[in-house]
Amino acid sequence: MNIVQWFQSVLVIFSLLFTSITGFFNGTNKDAQLLQEKTGGYMYGVCHPDENYERIDELGLGWVRFDIPYPYNADGSISNSYTEFKNRARGYADQGIKVLAITPYPRSYFDIGGFDPSTDENAERTKEIAVFLCNDLRDIISGIQITNEMGVTNFTYPLTMEQAAKFIGIQAEALSEVKGDLIIGYNSAGVMEELHYLMKPYLQYMDYVGVDLYYGTWYGGELHDYVSAVRKVNRITKKPIIVAEFGYISAGEPKSDAERAEILARYGYDSEAAARADIENFVAKLPDALKSHVYEEFPDPATWGDAVFEAMDKHFYCYLDESLTGIAHTPEGQAEFYSQLLPNLKKIDCLAGFFIFCWRDSPTCWYCGQSDCPYETAWGITDVNGNPKPAFYAIKDAMAAFKE
Ligand SMILES: [Zn+2]
Repeated sequence: MNIVQWFQSVLVIFSLLFTSITGFFNGTNKDAQLLQEKTGGYMYGVCHPDENYERIDELGLGWVRFDIPYPYNADGSISNSYTEFKNRARGYADQGIKVLAITPYPRSYFDIGGFDPSTDENAERTKEIAVFLCNDLRDIISGIQITNEMGVTNFTYPLTMEQAAKFIGIQAEALSEVKGDLIIGYNSAGVMEELHYLMKPYLQYMDYVGVDLYYGTWYGGELHDYVSAVRKVNRITKKPIIVAEFGYISAGEPKSDAERAEILARYGYDSEAAARADIENFVAKLPDALKSHVYEEFPDPATWGDAVFEAMDKHFYCYLDESLTGIAHTPEGQAEFYSQLLPNLKKIDCLAGFFIFCWRDSPTCWYCGQSDCPYETAWGITDVNGNPKPAFYAIKDAMAAFKE
C-alpha cells in the first residue's frame, strides 16, 4: 500500500464513520421509517382544506386533515353532516390526496348519543362507533386521529383528563383489531406530559402520536422549541411523531390599557371590576359564540369573571402578545415562519410528517364570533377567498427543496 492508497483508505473509513454518525442523528429512527412505509412516504399535509385540489397539489401536499362529525342522529339514523363528510373525503381520495380523519369530540356522545363514552358501562357503545367509522371509511381515508387535543377545556368538556385518556384508549383498542392499512393515533395540544403519561397503557395500539405546536402565537417560545417539543413527546411515548397542527397567524397585536378600556366601554363598563360586579348581565351581552362557551363550560356563575378575563381574555379583547423573536404577525412574517421552520422540522429523525394549520383564513373567529379576533381568522396560507398569501409561496419553495 503506497501513501496515496493509505490516505484513500483513511478517507473512506472517516466518511463511513461520518455517515453512520450523522445517520444516527438524522433520519434513521426505525419506527418513523416504518410508519412512512405504511403511509407511502413522509406525510406533508394541511388542516381544514377547501376543495381547490389543484392548489393543494401545487404545494406538493399529499395529505389533508379534518373532522368526522358524530355519525348518528339522536334516533340512531345516519346524520346528514356525516354523509357530507364522506362525500368531501371521497373528493380528496378521488384526487389521490390522503385523508387523516379526526373522530368526534366527547361532547357529541353526550349531546347526541346521550351517553358518557368514557365509562366501562358504555365502552361497548363507544367501541361500536369507532369500529363503524373505521369500516365505513376505510376505502376513503388513510388514517384516524382519535378525537382532538384532549386537555384543552373546550374540546375535553365534559370529561376529566383521566376520562379523556380512557375515551381515547377504548377507541384505540377497538380500532387496533380492525384498522387494516389505516394508521391510528391521537394528539396533544403542546407537549402536555400529563396526557401522554395517562395514555401509557394504550400506546401499544398507536401507530403514531401527534403533537400540535403554536410557539409564538398561543404561547411564548422560539423556533427551536418546535424541535425540542417533538423530541420530548417522542421520548415520553417512544412512538413516531406527527406534528398534527402548527402555524403562525398573520395578524394580531398587543392591546394597550386604553384599547382594552374602549372594548369594555362598548359593553357599558368602565373597568373589569365593574363588569365582574355585574357578571350575569355582562355575560349576557357577549357575542353569542363567546357567551355559549361561558354558559356551557363554566356552570358556576361565580367563575364567569375568571372565564372571560382569564381563560378567554385573548378572544374577549382580541389581543395577541406573543411572537417569535424577529418574526412579526404579518403575512410576510407568516411566510418567514414557514421558510425558517420547515427545513428544521424535516431534519427531526422521529418525525414522520407535518400538517400545516391551516389552509384558509376565516371571516370570523369560530370560538368568539368576532371578525377582529386574530385567533381563528388569520391562520390561513390562503386568504378568505382562497387566494395564496406569501406563506403559500414560502411553503411551495420549501417543499420543492425537500423533493429535489
Ligand atoms: Zn376569537
